[in-house]
Order: sequence, then structure tokens, then C-alpha cells
Amino acid sequence: MTTETVTAFNQLALKNTLLNVLDEIGYESPSPIQAETIPLLLDGRDIIGQAQTGTGKTAAFALPLLSNLDLKQKDPQVLVLAPTRELAIQVAEAFQKYASQIKGFHVLPVYGGQDYSGQIRALKRGVHVVVGTPGRVMDHMRKGTLKLDNLKALVLDEADEMLRMGFIDDVEWVLEQTPSDRQIALFSATMPSQIRRIATKYLNNPEQVTIKVKTTTADTIRQRFWPVSGVHKLDALTRILEAEEFDAMIIFVRTKTATVELTEKLEARGYSTAAINGDIQQNQRERTIQNLKNKKIDILIATDVAARGLDVPRISHVVNYDIPYDTEAYVHRIGRTGRAGKKGDAILFVAPREKGMLKAIERATKKPIEIMDLPSTELINDNRVARFKQRITDTLANENLEFFDNLIEQYEQEHNVPAKEIASALAKLLQGDTPFLLQNKPARKSKENWERDDRPSRNKRDGSRRRERSPRSESAKPEEGMQRFRIEVGHNHKVKPGNIVGAIANEAGIDSQYIGRINISDDYSLVDLPADIPQEIFNDLKKVRVAGQPLKISVLGKTEQNKKSRDKKPRHKSKDKKSGSKKYKDSDTQPKSKARNKSKAKDNNRKKKFGDDQPRKKLTL
Ligand code: AMP
Repeated sequence: MTTETVTAFNQLALKNTLLNVLDEIGYESPSPIQAETIPLLLDGRDIIGQAQTGTGKTAAFALPLLSNLDLKQKDPQVLVLAPTRELAIQVAEAFQKYASQIKGFHVLPVYGGQDYSGQIRALKRGVHVVVGTPGRVMDHMRKGTLKLDNLKALVLDEADEMLRMGFIDDVEWVLEQTPSDRQIALFSATMPSQIRRIATKYLNNPEQVTIKVKTTTADTIRQRFWPVSGVHKLDALTRILEAEEFDAMIIFVRTKTATVELTEKLEARGYSTAAINGDIQQNQRERTIQNLKNKKIDILIATDVAARGLDVPRISHVVNYDIPYDTEAYVHRIGRTGRAGKKGDAILFVAPREKGMLKAIERATKKPIEIMDLPSTELINDNRVARFKQRITDTLANENLEFFDNLIEQYEQEHNVPAKEIASALAKLLQGDTPFLLQNKPARKSKENWERDDRPSRNKRDGSRRRERSPRSESAKPEEGMQRFRIEVGHNHKVKPGNIVGAIANEAGIDSQYIGRINISDDYSLVDLPADIPQEIFNDLKKVRVAGQPLKISVLGKTEQNKKSRDKKPRHKSKDKKSGSKKYKDSDTQPKSKARNKSKAKDNNRKKKFGDDQPRKKLTL
């Protein structure tokens, strides 16, 4: 079977328990990367998948590996290496979701900044799949708490990100320690030479999976995108529906469930809407399309599959409510408008983490997509008032109002109330409790600002742009609340600021926004970190490796030796204790509730900064 013929999940040899879940969560058909990858991985082949976030790559490896799982084997048989803790958690959650009908299945995310004991307990109990960041996975392997002797499959997710964050030596180390006959799936959005080298060295006759792209969009289609932020997508959509002049519209979502949910929501808001998805019988689908043609409905909510080949000339607008998996799907989708030389409008909702896909679409279609502001509150309100007035005019012109004329006249006389007040009361009755006018105002941004500001959190972790611009002088003092640390890795080890930020953020769980200036010298670097960094995190940091080197972090100007001797002096101890109690415990000098609130606020701040919920000891410097 060629991948072109794979249009449904049940054409793939996945276990029924998985097919049932996919149906339940509303996945209708495999995305292109899934259609190509799943059969290969089911067959035990190694693959190189060139795919980025949003293409459905997680399911592309999770589903076949789950299908091939041996539930009886209690030590890890699948290991996924991911560049960040967020991705590790996300991937582990995806495995859990897809395996929800596989009884006794266990997946464990392992990442830095999290207590070891919980992870070790879970590993001892037995897990089938481990998803982790390279540093923490290595630590567990060294400790002997993670044994990969029976590993069957290894996934390198976002390999180019791991390279960029300086983890590639760690990845290679892990690869070396795993059985030589394990299956490998390597996913990477780009293919730098180092990733190619790893692929050549460790993968066994891999199949390369790249998705073909159709790239032509009609010039008559005006393409815009709305950067999802501040306002909920549904509210944004209703603003667009109120302000855009459209004849008929098709709105694309990813799942069957979403077609139904969104239809219900728009119908509740008074739009004549219908859903089409792969579950809907052919004759029902045809009736719906006929209704769209006959103007009985104006809005169609569809999945990609259901809208294939749809040709209704009155479709003036295509809204990509959920971003498509690939550029080809985008081109197909927007091709539902602007047919036969007519004008059309395409609007794409893009969340910050989907920026990569927006860029890919622009590159593939060789057309820039302009940013759009949501229609302003004033415009929406003006429209609402105009429409309301028009409804009155139309009713006066077209309806027989004799009965109501008499009724209102009666009321006027009985209650001695002017007709204007009666009309207002009726308008309120008509409107119900929903406010007539909109209140909140959507934020406005230029494309450049959005691209700069809303960088996906994962990219923010890199922080290289900010830090490379920092002054390189060692003498400038750290900012208030920050402390300068020395780490034993420098230019000689080919380290980049992004690698340092990545490792510290990821492996020690310090949020990247709290990582300050970085100064790289030949064989060491200086980095500014929060002065109140907890002792455990400091200990974790000493073990973190960057560019293959242990950081061996120390406070600048203090060697381990004099740090220890300082700690022994009672004068310092009591001082530390005092400041420690002021910083992290309720202060005796404050009223209790105030102190508690303050310490709660600090606690939240610390959770944000150090990325977990563990109570921490303060670092004694
Ligand atoms: P990923 O590229 O793995 O980050 O996936 C992007 C999103 O697409 C996730 O929210 C998935 O739940 C969703 N997704 C993946 N495969 C499918 C599918 N075949 N149908 C609908 N949604 C999917």
C-alpha cells in the first residue's frame, strides 16, 4: 500500500485499542507524516523524519511504538529524548492519552529540576516508556536507576533543538549505551551536518520521510493571519464573523469533535452553521453542501478530509481556526475560496508556538501573509447598532404589525407610559441578559513585534539573542538580586550562550528569564543567576554538563574550599540563618496573615523561578 492511499487510521496495522482511542479523541485521518511514518515504524525500520511541531509527529512515533509494545516487559523498552522539559512532559502525556485503553501501561517523564526520588521509585516499579531530557536521562543511567539493556526503540525528538542547546554529546553518549539492535526514529525540523552525521553513524538503513508540498495559491486570495493572544479563539472568530463581509465561509478545525463543538457554539450565537467530517454519511454531506449552495446555511465547519474537493463558488472566506499540519493542507484549504478567478479571503489563526508553521507556509507559497488586527470594539458595536436599526426598518416595512400596534396602544393608555419606553423594554426582552455592546479591547501588534515578543516559550529558553547582545565586560556588576557564578566551560569547548541557558534552564529548572548575563572566556564562563538560588539547585548545577563538560559551578571568587571554611564560621552561619528566615519564613516582625501572604507570594515566585513545587533550602554561599 502506498502512503497516498492511506486516508484512514484503520488502513494502518495499529492495534484496535489504539484505533478506538483515536476515534474517541476525534482524529479523523492520519496527517501526512503519520501516514508515511507509522507503517515504517510498525515494520521495525529506522527512520529520519523531517518534521516540525504541529505536523502530528508525536503520534507518528507514539502510535506504532505503542502498537509494538510488549506489556509484559517491565524494564524500559522505548526511550524518547527531547530537548526541553515542556516537550518531555507533552510527549509523555501524548503516550498516556493514546494508551488510555492499554491496561497496565506506564510512561514516565524524567527531567532536571525535579526530585530524583519520585522518578527512581517509578523506575523501580517498572515503566514501558521513558521520555526525558538528555542530562537527566544520563544521570539516571550513570546511577544505574535507568537500565536500557532491553531497550527496543529510541526516539530523538527535535534533534536539531538538542544540538542547538548543546546536548548533542549527551545524546551520543546515550546512543552508545543502548543495545545495537534497537530501532531509532530521528525527528528534526532541519538537518544540520551534525545531525546527518549521527544519523549515518547510528541509524540502520534509515528511510527518509519528508513531506511533499503543493505550493501554489491563487493570487486572487487575500491571505491574513491573526496572532492568537489575549482573546480566546472563539471570541476572535465571532468578532471576525461580525465584522467581515462574507457570503459563505468554511472554517477548518483538526478534529471531528471540534467540528461538532464549534457548530454548536456558532449556532448558539445565531449563525446558520453545519459540520462536515469523515463520520458524516455521504448523502448527509451532500445535503449539507446543497444547503450551503442554496444559502440555507452560511458557515461550514470542516476537517481537511471532509472538505476535500469541495467546490462551492459562494465561499468567500476560509478561516483556519486550527492551523493545518503542513503547507500542502494549507494550500488545499484556502483553495476552497477564490475559485474561478473570483476574489477570496483566507484567515489563519497562529498561536505563538505555531510560528514555525506560518513561516513554512510563507516560504512554500512564496507569499507573505499579512498580520491582521481583530476588528475593533468600536467597529463591532457600530455594526451591531446598524444591524439592529436595520432589523427594525425591515420589520416595519415587511411585516403586518396591526395586532402589536393595538397591544402597545392599549398598554400606553393603561399604564400611562410613553411608546418610547415600551419599545426600550421590548428591546431588552429581545436582547435578554447578553450585553448588546462589547466591552473589552483586543491588543494590537505589528508582525515584527509579534515575531519578537511572543517567541514560543521553548525558544525563549535559548535566550541566545538577548545574551549575545549583552556587554561582554566582566567588570560590570551583576544586577540587583543576582550573583555571578563561574562555570568551567568556555570557547575552547565550543560553547554558545544558548547552550548554557538551555542546560541551566532545563536541567536545573531555573526559568530562563532569571538567567542573566553570560560572559564566555576561553576555558571558563561567567553567568549571573539569582542570588537566592536554593542549595539543591546549586548542587544539581554542579553536575550538569554542557558541551560535554561538567559545569562545576562555583560562586565567582570563592573556591569550594573557602566556601566550606566560610560555612563553618559561626558568624556567617548565624547571619545566613537570619537572612534565610527573613527571606523564606514568616517574619516575626510582621503580623501573621500579612507575613503568610507575603511568603505565599514569594513561594509562587520561587516556583516560577525554579520551576517546581519542592520546598528548598537556601544556598549558603
Ligand atoms: P505535534 O506535531 O505532535 O505537536 O501535534 C500537533 C497537534 O495535532 C496535537 O495537538 C495533536 O493532538 C494533534 N494531532 C496529531 N495528529 C492528529 C490527527 N491525525 N488528527 C487530528 N489531530 C491530530
